[in-house]
Amino acid sequence: MTYQPNPQRYEKMHYRRCGNSGLVLSAISLGLWHNFGHVDDFANARKLIHTAFDLGITHFDLANNYGPPPGSAEETFGKILSQDFGGFLRDELIISTKAGYRMWPGPYGEWGSRKYLITSLDQSLKRMGLDYVDIFYHHRPDPETPLEESMMALHDCVKSGKALYVGISNYPAEEARKAIQMLKDLGTPCLIHQPKYSLFERWVEDGLLDVLEQTGTGCIPYSPLAQGLLTDRYLKGIPNDSRVAKGVGFLTENHLTSERLDKINKLNALAQKRNTTLAQMALAWVLKDSRITTVLIGASRSEQITDAVNSLHHLHFENEELSTIEHILKS
Ligand code: NDP
Repeated sequence: MTYQPNPQRYEKMHYRRCGNSGLVLSAISLGLWHNFGHVDDFANARKLIHTAFDLGITHFDLANNYGPPPGSAEETFGKILSQDFGGFLRDELIISTKAGYRMWPGPYGEWGSRKYLITSLDQSLKRMGLDYVDIFYHHRPDPETPLEESMMALHDCVKSGKALYVGISNYPAEEARKAIQMLKDLGTPCLIHQPKYSLFERWVEDGLLDVLEQTGTGCIPYSPLAQGLLTDRYLKGIPNDSRVAKGVGFLTENHLTSERLDKINKLNALAQKRNTTLAQMALAWVLKDSRITTVLIGASRSEQITDAVNSLHHLHFENEELSTIEHILKS
């Protein structure tokens, strides 16, 4: 079946400027960490990408190691791109990939050396069948490699035309400030930072968001739904098709403590009062901060993407709702 993108795809989505750059990103972005590996259903993966694009999502996030097996999410995405997004549609997409975690054996297959970063990007481009990615990230800080070497490698990826922009991920505030300054001095501004941030994970509020604002860098929080905890998924047990039940990632039954479930239930009750789903409230809560460019969600079904995009109709919070949320989280 030939894919025909929705001609109205840009009418409802919000696009937000990424820091001080010229680039805007869809307020919702889709990540391919889970559900796009060779172990997953290709037809479903294809449907997820179509649904996202049809709803105005322009930004798709990958990494060298997404799968399983590592690399296979990029291969799946590459197949969907060549099948359905050939020609001019590539120019409507912002595709990112990353390198930092273990990808191949031996001393050059992870962290932040020039050798690893540049060769990993070459491999990613091959797997996706692309000439360039829009954003190339250093996936995690490397305590052993000089920061200058990793940043110079990112800069050179842009100079060689293999990436249009660069970003960093999981860098703590002060290391991020240094990396951003180095990239600026090299003439390749850091476009964006990708940290973990959700109602349940608040570390970015202790300095990182200020650094990003001061330096004009965008912010794309990952796992804004805490991998599915901040949704209705686990309100009545553990569904067979859920991330916890599949047991392929880091989310396990141990995360479903009675304390946490109590908070999830209370947050869900508040979301219902606002006439939204819990997932919509959790995404709106992250997006309410103007320093956030876009939220990076994952999805196992297309309805979850539609649900996320509908959160954009419910972005406003009353002060009382915000205090109730804080009260629930601290209880
Ligand atoms: P989320 O917190 O959005 O969790 C996604 C999961 O939540 C889905 O797989 C689904 O779980 C459930 N879900 C999503 N929407 C709904 C909904 N509306 N209703 C009910 N359940 C829902 O994000 P991820 O943890 O998947 O991370 C998103 C992306 O962030 C990744 O794909 C990756 O691109 C990036 N990332 C980056 C990292 C980094 O180090 N830079 C680390 C981790 C992620 P289920 O499968 O059970 O249906």
